[in-house]
Amino acid sequence: MPADASFEFSRRIFLGSTAAWLVAGVGAARAAGTIKPGPKSALIVVDVQNCFIDGGTLPVKGGAAVVPVINKLAASFDNIVVTQDWHTPGHASFASTHAGKKPFETTSMPYGTQVLWPDHCVQGSDDAALHKDLKLPTAGLIIRKGFRKDVDSYSAFVEADNKTKTGLAGYLKERGVDTVFVTGLATDFCVAWTALDARKLGFTAYVIEDATRAIDLNGSLAAAWKKMSEAGVKRIQASDVA
Ligand SMILES: [Zn+2]
Repeated sequence: MPADASFEFSRRIFLGSTAAWLVAGVGAARAAGTIKPGPKSALIVVDVQNCFIDGGTLPVKGGAAVVPVINKLAASFDNIVVTQDWHTPGHASFASTHAGKKPFETTSMPYGTQVLWPDHCVQGSDDAALHKDLKLPTAGLIIRKGFRKDVDSYSAFVEADNKTKTGLAGYLKERGVDTVFVTGLATDFCVAWTALDARKLGFTAYVIEDATRAIDLNGSLAAAWKKMSEAGVKRIQASDVA
């Protein structure tokens, strides 16, 4: 893999200094543009939809800023997958569906604790459309998720019941992809869950931090980075990608 090759290259540069080797080992000292995605890599663009951008129903602060970063990254990838949050009206993840509940409170679902959101990304609405400035003409697949009324889905791979698969892992594996680069909205929910599931399913996983923005609800962003780090998800910046 080009990514591994560049990592080995960094390691050789930093050998001789234990402290520097430790820094290199967590990927923080990588020189700009040293990761070259090859045919076995895929860019996953998570939920860059009007609903998650200012003016939408569940805006992520600064969400629109990921669009030009992702558009530029796209040129480095042979494989691009886009996801769309795609809920039914009255979806179980909406606070309005649960009597007495307000957005950002939680409830207990058969599959675990569910954060309740404002009504958002309803199927076929302008709110659920991909952002108009997203330019990904070579994207090969759009995965829609969260379209079953009683199950939410943050991850692009497996819905929140932890059982229902979207088919994305099969698609990627059939195309020989073993490494994914996750971008989009929001860092601490759909991006993190996608990256964590990618690791569980055996993929090498990067999150391109400046191609994401977070909701950060009750410390969720720090918690998500901790989980991702423990799972071996690599945290990089767009400038690290050649
Ligand atoms: Zn949703």
